[in-house]
Amino acid sequence: MLNLSPYLVASPFVNTGKRATRDTHVRLRKEIEACRACPRLVRWRETVARERKAAYRNETYWGKPIAGFGDDAARVVVLGLAPGAHGANRTGRVFTGDRSGDWLFRAMHKAGLANTAASRSRKDGLELRDAWVTVAVRCAPPDNKPLPLEKKKCSGFLDRELAMLPNMRVVVCLGSFAYVAACEFFGVSPRPKFAHGAEVHVPAGTTADDSRGAVTLVCSYHPSQQNTFTGRLTERMLDDVFARATSLAKG
Ligand code: SF4
Repeated sequence: MLNLSPYLVASPFVNTGKRATRDTHVRLRKEIEACRACPRLVRWRETVARERKAAYRNETYWGKPIAGFGDDAARVVVLGLAPGAHGANRTGRVFTGDRSGDWLFRAMHKAGLANTAASRSRKDGLELRDAWVTVAVRCAPPDNKPLPLEKKKCSGFLDRELAMLPNMRVVVCLGSFAYVAACEFFGVSPRPKFAHGAEVHVPAGTTADDSRGAVTLVCSYHPSQQNTFTGRLTERMLDDVFARATSLAKG
């Protein structure tokens, strides 16, 4: 198991197989972080980073696209929508530094997938176990709404990232946007309706990579403030999703 943090750099001091995996992840991360393919999103992420929220006015925002992170041997993958403007777009790590991340990593910690419940910065020591967390679109979008063309342009990064997780058995889809992206990756058609707690079984060998085992998509409402403040998503509901995901992953 390799825990791949955003600070990871290619190192010669690992064995050949692990080095190959690590170098591939490092290459993809560098490619993602350098991307400027969507002019509207580039403008937005950089404007937010320059102007900053009053509470973070003394911080230097990341202001770049975000790659996924976690355990490259993960059986559980968590897929969100996009970086938060003052969360991941500020801290440089997905679901880090905002309330959505607080909810997510608390649930993952309870499920044994994270060594701590707190996710504050890239240097906070958070490590994922048997889990990988990522997003469908890599740049913070205005109003959390990427345009269809932006989603399409970014989908190649998600495809490549998921293809580098050979042990993936469960994808927890946080919200309908992530669910649709996962269905597109796995070629699920017709697509069953999104609902909190819904599960979609994807048989083995249905993607371009025929060596992949069966995967279950587990749907959850996104832990956005809109959902958690209103009680649409409760702590218990999210805990149940991760309890189910870990149970499915263990088979
Ligand atoms: S959303 Fe994706 S494709 Fe568009 S600029 Fe950001 S990283 Fe590049």
